[in-house]
Amino acid sequence: MSPPSGILGNMGKSGLVDYHLHTPRCGHAVGDLEEYVARALQIGLSEVGFSDHFPLLHLRDPSLSMALEELPEYVGEVSRLAESVSGVRVRLGIEVDYLPGYEERTAEILAAHTFDYVMGAVHFLDGWGFDDPRYVDGYRGRDLYELWARYFQVLGDAAGSGLFDVLAHPDLIKKFGFRPREDVTHLYASFLDRVAAAGLAVEVSTAGLSKPVGEIYPGEDFLRLCRERDIPVTLGSDAHSPREVGRDYRAAVALLRRVGYREIALFERRRRTSLSLPD
Ligand SMILES: [Zn+2]
Ligand SMILES: [Zn+2]
Repeated sequence: MSPPSGILGNMGKSGLVDYHLHTPRCGHAVGDLEEYVARALQIGLSEVGFSDHFPLLHLRDPSLSMALEELPEYVGEVSRLAESVSGVRVRLGIEVDYLPGYEERTAEILAAHTFDYVMGAVHFLDGWGFDDPRYVDGYRGRDLYELWARYFQVLGDAAGSGLFDVLAHPDLIKKFGFRPREDVTHLYASFLDRVAAAGLAVEVSTAGLSKPVGEIYPGEDFLRLCRERDIPVTLGSDAHSPREVGRDYRAAVALLRRVGYREIALFERRRRTSLSLPD
């Protein structure tokens, strides 16, 4: 029997980390930053990273991301919190949409701040917000193999862009359970060759367990291919509310150990270190 979601059980005080916390600035998360940190302390995490949605550059939607003017306030808020909190380290991250054609503008904006890590993500394919429940009809009638190939092409371009340290929820395209009938192993493999060549980490995210697909991002087959290539992994919940911090971590740690991971990646000022996984 598995413990309630979000409870670490006997892994409490294990010193794990959660590198994917949102804040209300994105327009679809709730709770003060202090409440996220309080929850992290309560379940015994040693480190958390806020990685709220970077301002979208191709559309303005206050329910999806903070506005560009708000970015300095976000940076200030997380940085002040990092200095004032004790018992858990707080890192300044950001989750940035990789938007082909916006690379230079993205780099310019990122360069104005000192982040501990920058996560790259693909939530839009050719303008379609494919992970947004409002647009789920977009899957119907599509060639799913072509869609997956396109997704991993764009995410591979993100890996090669030089903008990012980590790729968030790397198989997000499975979110609603629309999967190609064809074998996709070689899509994963050629994408991960690009990730390994670029020296990026990928995120292991428990968020997928609470989505229609009901599976950690990435899936086990995918994660085995990461391990074969020595690709480092970060760990996160994609919390959009304080109670989601560290959710389903027992399942994530079990998966990581099963495929042979013994450590997870940490970042400080965009330099990578590592932490041993608990037994
Ligand atoms: Zn979000
Ligand atoms: Zn995301």
